Amino acid sequence: MEFSSKLLENAVLEMSNLPGIGKRTALRLVLHILKQPMQNTTAFTQAILDLKNNIKLCSSCHNISDHEVCEICTNPDRDHQTICVVEDIRDVMAIENTRTYKGIYHVLGGKISPIDGVGPSQLKITSLLEKVKQGTCKEIIFALSSTIEGDTTNFYIYKQLKGFDVETSTIARGIAIGDELEYADEVTLGRSLLHRIPFEKTLKSL
Ligand SMILES: [Zn+2]
Repeated sequence: MEFSSKLLENAVLEMSNLPGIGKRTALRLVLHILKQPMQNTTAFTQAILDLKNNIKLCSSCHNISDHEVCEICTNPDRDHQTICVVEDIRDVMAIENTRTYKGIYHVLGGKISPIDGVGPSQLKITSLLEKVKQGTCKEIIFALSSTIEGDTTNFYIYKQLKGFDVETSTIARGIAIGDELEYADEVTLGRSLLHRIPFEKTLKSL
């Protein structure tokens, strides 16, 4: 792509660094921004800067939050004895959209994937075990995507929880094998949570 302006080229290059944005789309977006009033662009860039400067990870569940502890963890109406283990914030959003789950979450920040060089120590597993050790948690629900990496992660955590007085369950496989949680429709995901099954029952299929 030949550019008549270095400024235009820089903006397009930066934009095309975003996932799913090719050079042509980047050019279309940049030209769109150019046509917008300055106040729109200021609001847009300020929102991104505010996000980068001020966003926090909840010190308890590691969900993305505006505060030290997120609004789900501080909500007294949630069931703090039930912890749903998910991969990332998109899964929290998907489950919250079902409006059927009243417990709290634990965001691992990924799944165990030796191929990608991700081991248990790179995930937020220790803090989950700490919560269980404190004895305030009655049930752990594994809600990772049903992929090999998801199953491996579930099993790893399950083994770590042995000997602790906590129930483990996993969402029912209304979620198709290999599906990512965030793409499941709300009704399917909601039902999968309601009809969760004891984790032990899934072990034979591993
Ligand atoms: Zn939280």
